[in-house]
Amino acid sequence: MSNSKTFYAINPANNEQLEKAFVVNTEEEINEVVQKAAVAFDIYRKKDKNSIADFLDLAAEEIMNLGDALLERCHLETALPLARLTGERGRTVGQLKLFATVVREGSWVDARIDKAIPDRSPLPKSDIRHMLMPLGPVAVFGASNFPLAFSVAGGDTASALASGCTVVVKGHPAHPGTSEMVAGAIIKAAVASGMPEGTFSLVQGNTNAVGEALVKHPQIKAVGFTGSFRGGKALYDLANTRPEPIPVFAEMGSTNPVFILPGALAERAEAIATGMVGSITMGVGQFCTNPGLAFVQKSESSDVFCNTLKEKIGEAPAGTMLTLGISTAYNNGLQSVSGTANVEAIAKGKEGATPNTAVATVFKTSIDNFNQNQGLAEENFGPSNVLVEADTKEQILEAAKNLQGHLTATVHGTEADFANYGELFDVLEKKVGRVLVNGYPTGVEVCHSMVHGGPYPATTAPQSTSVGTNAIKRFVRPVCFQDYPASLLPDALKNENQLDIWRLVDGELTKSAI
Ligand code: NAP
Repeated sequence: MSNSKTFYAINPANNEQLEKAFVVNTEEEINEVVQKAAVAFDIYRKKDKNSIADFLDLAAEEIMNLGDALLERCHLETALPLARLTGERGRTVGQLKLFATVVREGSWVDARIDKAIPDRSPLPKSDIRHMLMPLGPVAVFGASNFPLAFSVAGGDTASALASGCTVVVKGHPAHPGTSEMVAGAIIKAAVASGMPEGTFSLVQGNTNAVGEALVKHPQIKAVGFTGSFRGGKALYDLANTRPEPIPVFAEMGSTNPVFILPGALAERAEAIATGMVGSITMGVGQFCTNPGLAFVQKSESSDVFCNTLKEKIGEAPAGTMLTLGISTAYNNGLQSVSGTANVEAIAKGKEGATPNTAVATVFKTSIDNFNQNQGLAEENFGPSNVLVEADTKEQILEAAKNLQGHLTATVHGTEADFANYGELFDVLEKKVGRVLVNGYPTGVEVCHSMVHGGPYPATTAPQSTSVGTNAIKRFVRPVCFQDYPASLLPDALKNENQLDIWRLVDGELTKSAI
């Protein structure tokens, strides 16, 4: 591809430009890439399940084959420590392999067969069969804060490819070198696996125009996004103004409220405060599950809790944030909270001597003041938290009822607290995608039962998850085959059940042939 416009990655540790210019793809180039993805889709979607599973496994292998060079480039582009990136690479290849097992097993297609009853009275019943089928080419936006696990080969890409969709990734402009290396590994795996050209592609750029062109393209049939509320909402709105609107699975901001109930505070205030500080400061607070809001009932134990927070946050080193933009937004957020009347910064971490470092900060305010200042409930992406002190249980319940949608909510309690605060759990189930008890929201396990999603504004698609094997369901639609000749039925729905998958036959789950 030829293009005169280029951009560079910036090392956030020193704000210096890194080597290598990356092309900003033009609308014509994006069109060409999406056309290829559309042509490839008709071939890829018909590949047998073992071929797709083998391709995913090989993509994981090729990412590992990039070796330390990938981690080193990624470290330069993101300032994330090598140990963290090594773990994140493990998670990335683990996700690809997990989806490979799901595809190889095959029952995820939700095959259903209702056999015909020709002599039913008063009307005969048709033979009706159902399965999930891929939507088409999917646009995926890589996230800045997980340059491997939520980026080019991240969960969105893995689940879309697993479902039989082709994928075009818009790389995040903060880590173009990392994106290019990972894309090369996936394309190498696709070629070696006999997948058509265009099964997977990467487009790059540092302007909104690149992502907009992708989302507007008529051949793109769904979008996966992780990033800011502003970006996710803009792309969601854009997708809905297309002549053919398409689903946008945008995972955006969340403050992940934590409720620390009186019994838990009395029993283990210091331990919970220590755990909270670990969660607030992990990864310089740059996780969508970072706990940005906490609620306690004022007591002697809540004072112990605050004192421990102060001590532990005071020891927290200043970490380098992912980009100058994210660092500036974080500092503006701190200023905005500090400038709110009757809010006190009760704990501050160490200052950094290098660019883009974030000072961990915990603020405290009363529940009345919190209720009057909606801005205090908003996400400030980074290592900060607003601790809200209530006087009564009713005030805590009211605050929970007023919450917007979040990815997670956490409750620390004892058995007595759980008996006393049952209503809180009822409320939280309606507000978030994952409710945790006596834990910390950072650290999202990749497994079959995980939900990383939630009601708006945490996401634009509350019925879905972007982590865990259910993520595959975002990129498919149900198709029903009525009175189809056996020769035309997809293999998953043929009488013989040659794929050996679980199917719902006349309402009973079975692997038996018909
Ligand atoms: P972002 O600004 O939302 O960008 C994410 C991706 O979307 C980038 O590829 C960006 O590329 C593109 N994009 C953003 N706005 C767009 C628009 N209007 N039209 C088309 N494309 C658009 O996120 P970020 O750069 O990672 O971080 C900025 C802020 O997002 C942070 O300060 C933080 O508040 C939040 N954030 C949240 C999460 C989360 O997990 N929820 C993760 C990371 C960041 P271009 O800039 O090239 O268009």
